[in-house]
Amino acid sequence: MFKPIRSSVFSAAICLLLLTTGCSQISSMSNKGIPAGTPANPQIQSPANPGQSANSQTMPSSPNTTSPDNNTPAALHVNRDLSIPVLYYHSVSTVPKNEICMPPSEFEKQMAYLSEQGYHTVSVTQIYDFFTGKGTLPDKPIAITFDDGYKDNYTNAFPTMKKYGFTGTIFVIAENIGSNNILTWDDLKALIKEGWQIGGHSMTHVDLTKLDSPKLTEEVKNSKLSLEKKLEPIKSFCYPFGAYNAKVEKAVQDAGYLIGFTTDRGWADRKTDLLLQHRIYCFASMGMKEFEKRLQNPNY
Ligand SMILES: [Zn+2]
Repeated sequence: MFKPIRSSVFSAAICLLLLTTGCSQISSMSNKGIPAGTPANPQIQSPANPGQSANSQTMPSSPNTTSPDNNTPAALHVNRDLSIPVLYYHSVSTVPKNEICMPPSEFEKQMAYLSEQGYHTVSVTQIYDFFTGKGTLPDKPIAITFDDGYKDNYTNAFPTMKKYGFTGTIFVIAENIGSNNILTWDDLKALIKEGWQIGGHSMTHVDLTKLDSPKLTEEVKNSKLSLEKKLEPIKSFCYPFGAYNAKVEKAVQDAGYLIGFTTDRGWADRKTDLLLQHRIYCFASMGMKEFEKRLQNPNY
């Protein structure tokens, strides 16, 4: 059931850079989006691979649902095998040549599309509840997630999403909270009040597969505890760099997280290990065609 570490992830490599430099300071990067002096890692690949063609499988149609009124989405999905798209972003800002910084104008188009198409955002723990038979989901459910906790998730993504009645989940790096270009505790509290959810993304954003057991436990468990101390129960986790193995997954389970997310391609699915759910990578140059394509195919 456990999979080997994915040779991840170009975006995650950049994301690590951003942790120290901040997204808005990357504009001087080279055409490849990597600042001078950064050692190249030939093994790193993008999870997006925009040129890759999707297979022809289409999304299973939703069962007919009715809504009790215009403002309340129907919550009638009982088919636990329904796959659910979970988008993942990093920064929502304009930084040329940096694929993990989604330009706000593109983000706006994507959110408008979701709204027009009748999607309803759900939290990642709602997905957990649904997969485990504890809850239902609205028609056309989708989760919108953000990795690393960039400040612009609050200043750019949040107001755009609020306009459409959408909420999201942010996977934050516990030790980075409040640092330059990163969300503060007050930002996180404000987002929670607005219906957003916070998930764990380790203490320091390290490759968890490279740690010995005590360090691994510290990164995974302490991030949960430190977030819970100031926020709310933390039930979801996202693997830094998308890197995991059986030992890492066990640590995540032992820490008490209920659902985990990788950077592996695809939609969330009950048949997949609850702690290794797949997501849809959203990158700056993807364009609406690619965005729409990824929402039509659970194995895009
Ligand atoms: Zn990350």
